[in-house]
Amino acid sequence: MSVFDLLIDQEHVISILRDAVIAAAKGDDESQEMTHAWLFTGPPGSGRSNTALAFAAALVCKNGGCNECTDCTTALKGNHADVELIKTEGLSIKIDEVRELITRASWSPSVGNYRVVVIEDADRLTESAANALLKAIEEPGLRTVWLLCAPSATDVLPTIRSRTRSLVLRTPSTSAVTALLESEKISPTMADFAARASQGHIGRARHLAKSEEARARRAAILKISLLITDVASAFKAAQVLVEAAKAEAEEEAEKRDDAELASLKEAWGQQGSKLTQGGSKAVKELEKEQKSRTTRMVRDYLDRALLDIATLYRDILLIQSNSLDSIINIDLTTEITKLANSSTPESSLRKLEAIMNARTNLSHNAAPLLTIEALMVSLK
Ligand SMILES: [Zn+2]
Repeated sequence: MSVFDLLIDQEHVISILRDAVIAAAKGDDESQEMTHAWLFTGPPGSGRSNTALAFAAALVCKNGGCNECTDCTTALKGNHADVELIKTEGLSIKIDEVRELITRASWSPSVGNYRVVVIEDADRLTESAANALLKAIEEPGLRTVWLLCAPSATDVLPTIRSRTRSLVLRTPSTSAVTALLESEKISPTMADFAARASQGHIGRARHLAKSEEARARRAAILKISLLITDVASAFKAAQVLVEAAKAEAEEEAEKRDDAELASLKEAWGQQGSKLTQGGSKAVKELEKEQKSRTTRMVRDYLDRALLDIATLYRDILLIQSNSLDSIINIDLTTEITKLANSSTPESSLRKLEAIMNARTNLSHNAAPLLTIEALMVSLK
């Protein structure tokens, strides 16, 4: 068993990483196989950060990633002393964070041969943060390896891109995701449904398969979009969807925000309601971060909802071209067939395109309600 066995459907990338690990173990630091900066790209859910973490584990493990030793298990979780995992919950990674990170990254490894830094959302680096990082990548410490992850290569600065070796992950096939879920003791029917509905997004598939609530929410979203007949119902649908996204994000946030605030105040030695000057500044900063995290969660939720709605039009298009066997939303066959018979393949394609455009706009920070309203009107 190796850490690379945990990755789904990425054999083309794994063989490159295995060669790099072998070269690194021989001490070939800048060989053809091994280099100090890598860029992992691929669609959401393809396992970018999992792949980077598996590589990190293989680099710090004495057996090249056995998946059994403490080095492997802690590295995979991102809490190995020599593996640092940078996750962003907010909308951006700022220069201060990157400067601190560069300092820590330059320390000598404490146990293994390398210090590995995994940046999960390199696309969220601000421009100044990216430039600071670029300097570190240009003059790497001998023992530091940078693993950057982003949806696509165009999401990072060209200067950074040109100094990293790029690996492109692919969307795992439905059958690979189904097999994975079945290996996790999920029934074949459920595994098949979740794999199809999530369209190769592993985390989403697992969540759908395991959570009845997630399935109910998905069904509700699909139902809303099936009921759009005129502009008024389109606006109504947009409102319901955006409000659900906000409610979910706020509920999630409330749980985390209060606990974070409490522990921060404790760290600043709060007495009664009084805080030191530094303490209240830290609290303000945290509150700002939390707000931006909630904003991001609303967008993430909406993006997932749009992907679900896209499966409807994909199904409609399939029925219009007479291929019934790979329908995702089997439970909605009657409604979908009705829509398929009353519209053309061209209009289904146009609607799919509108959904994908709305996703792009949301990812570029367009206002959620306006974006969803415009989309819903075009789906009527
Ligand atoms: Zn190991």
